[in-house]
This record gives sequence, C-alpha cells and structure tokens, in this order.
Amino acid sequence: MSTRFTGNFTQQEPIPEEGIEAAMAVLRHGRLHRYNTAPGEVAQTALLEQEFADFTGAKYALAVASGGYALGCALRAVGVKPGDRVLTNAFTLAPVPGAIAAVGAVPVFVGVTEGLVIDLDDLEAKADQARVLMLSHMRGHLCDMDRLMAICDAAGITVIEDCAHTMGATWNGKASGRFGAVGCYSTQTYKHINSGEGGFLVTDDDEIAARAVMLSGSYMLYERHLAAPGADVFEAVKYDTPNVSGRMDNLRAAILRPQLAALPQQVVRWNDRYGVVEQGVRGTPGVTVIDRDARARFVGSSIQFLLLDWPADKVQEALRRCAARGVELKWFGGAEPVGFTSRYDSWRYAPSQPMPQSDRILRGLIDMRLPLTFSLEDCALIASILRDELGAVFQAA
Ligand SMILES: *Cc1c(COP(=O)(O)O)cnc(C)c1O
Repeated sequence: MSTRFTGNFTQQEPIPEEGIEAAMAVLRHGRLHRYNTAPGEVAQTALLEQEFADFTGAKYALAVASGGYALGCALRAVGVKPGDRVLTNAFTLAPVPGAIAAVGAVPVFVGVTEGLVIDLDDLEAKADQARVLMLSHMRGHLCDMDRLMAICDAAGITVIEDCAHTMGATWNGKASGRFGAVGCYSTQTYKHINSGEGGFLVTDDDEIAARAVMLSGSYMLYERHLAAPGADVFEAVKYDTPNVSGRMDNLRAAILRPQLAALPQQVVRWNDRYGVVEQGVRGTPGVTVIDRDARARFVGSSIQFLLLDWPADKVQEALRRCAARGVELKWFGGAEPVGFTSRYDSWRYAPSQPMPQSDRILRGLIDMRLPLTFSLEDCALIASILRDELGAVFQAA
C-alpha cells in the first residue's frame, strides 16, 4: 500500500548547456555590468530585453534584479506616492504587498474566489478606493481579464500585472502582462525561467518605460537599451526620476536567453505533468479540483486544490500522511505563516478587514510545486498518494 515518492519538490532542471557556454564567455571577458561593453558590442542584457519584448508582444521591456524590484519600479513609474492606496489580491505572496509597502503606499485587499482568482465583484465594490490595482495572477490562475479591464477602465484604475506565475500564459490568446499598463515577471529559481534572482517589466507606454529605465539605474546610458523609447522621451523625465538601482547583469541575462527561447516547449511539459496530477486527484472525496477557464492558457508549474470546510486537525493529518509518503504539500490555512504561505492577515504592516468568504477558501487551500525534474510516472505516483491519503482522512472524518 505505502509506496513512497522520493523526488525533490524544489529541484529545477539544470541551466541549458548553451546558457552555461554564454555565461562562461561573460565570465572570461569580465564585462558583467550591463553598461560595460566593448566597442560595437551589444550587452547580453540588452539582447535579452529585446527578446523578452518580442516574446510578450510588448513595445518595451526592462530586465531588473528581481520580480519584487519590477513591482516596486512599476509602482513608482506609474506615479504611486507615499500614502496612496493600491488595490491588490488578498491571496498572493509577500513580495506583492511588500512592494506596495516599500513605496510607502497602503495595500487595499480584494478577495479570492473558489477558482482562486481575484473576486471581481469585490473589486468592483472597492474600485473607488484607489487609482492603481496591482493584480497578482497568483499560482497562474487568470481571472476574466476582459471583465477586470472593463471594471478598471470604467473606474480610471491603472493596472499593474504581477506575472510571476504566468510567464508564458495567455488569456484569449494575449500574453499575460499585456492587459494592464505594466506587466512584471520574476526569473527567480522557482519561476518559469531561472537566473537565481531576476525579473522583467514590460509596457507599451513611452513615459512609463523611460521612467522605469531611469529608476532601474541607467544613469544617462539609456541609449544602450534596445527595447526602450527614443532619447526624446528620456529628455522629458531624466531630471526628475530618481535612481533606485536594480539592474540585471550580463551573467544572468546570458543564462536566461536560451531558457526564454525554450519556454514554449517547457510550458507543454509542465502542462503534461499538471494534467496527470489533476486527472489523478479529480473525484477524490472531499477534494475540490480547480477548474480552469477555457480562455486561459496557463502554465502548470504548480497545482492547487481545496479541502473546503475540513476541520484544521484533519487538514494537518492529511498533510502529515502525505509528507510521510514523500509528498510535500503547502497549506495556506495554518494559523501561522510557514515558508511562503502567508496571507493578507499575516501582513500586519498593512491594515485589513476580515474577509469571511476568502478566509473559507484560504483555510482549505493546498498548494504543491511541479518541477520539470518530475517525470509523468512521478506525477502519477504523486496523484495516487494524494488520492489514497486525502480520501482516507476525509472518509474517516
Ligand atoms: C516570486 C513572486 C514574485 C516576485 O518575487 P522575487 O522573488 O522578488 O523575484 C512576485 N509575486 C509572486 C506571486 C511571486 O510568487
């Protein structure tokens, strides 16, 4: 009965050989800083930005030091000031409210639905409370982006998208990150391309792009960018945009370029794994699988399901039994934040009102990573362990 899974939930794939070669070349010439180029040379970072702009279909792209940096830079570039209120998801990860707090602004939390997307009715009700929404596509769940943009356009709300879990995803064929004024991405090890730390922001807006480049620490070297607006746009902003250094470097850009080129194939591999786990878990008594909107092409780099209305001790028993068989689950319902599972009421620097409907979802929310180092057979074994253990605990309840 008790086969055990022995894979590692935090082990990603190695960097592609082509990326290692390109990184070695950067190490050998020593020009790691993005503006340190030989005559006639175009930096790896500038090339990566151009490729990322092409990948998303955006006019402009900027590579930066982290996803969290991209979020903070976007807030500054759209003009958020200390004391401003910024709408954001109650269900997200700490870098999102953290970016808002870091610019001195105040998060206003919007609830989460059973589909794990932002509650658009709640957003509509709160639309008069802020001029900016930082929308987190948490764990790759895309809400009805057409309705969201209609609500925000009607209320004059500028949207910044947190695409840490949706790089490579689309809504109705349009890349995630291309609906709002700015899209922000992370290239941290646990996301879809891996440079340890890193991030991007994309936009079509001339002034936002120029301000973001200046903010990121371009000094007056902005003409070295390939995916940025013309010098005339910088002329208008360069004296009043502060430098908040957070550049990407050529070493990280070198290892990201081949990973970006391979991302479409990687998305297929992720979704194959996701499909095996989802199919295997579906129908387990007491377990609610999250149905995906057909308009969303997601990236199944992690999977979530709900143990709705389970008593906390039963959830804990299920987590223990799965862990004993090598399956590591994360729970967003614990009394204390653990690892990355904090939620809106854990962030005490940001005042919040209780949200009973969202609390019910978060209390039952289970999260599991699906690294590409897992085979399809691994995924089938994980699903069978989940089915056995969750089913057994539920039926004993
Ligand atoms: C990872 C992540 C970010 C950005 O994180 P960094 O570690 O700063 O790159 C932002 N939002 C979410 C939801 C994330 O998971």
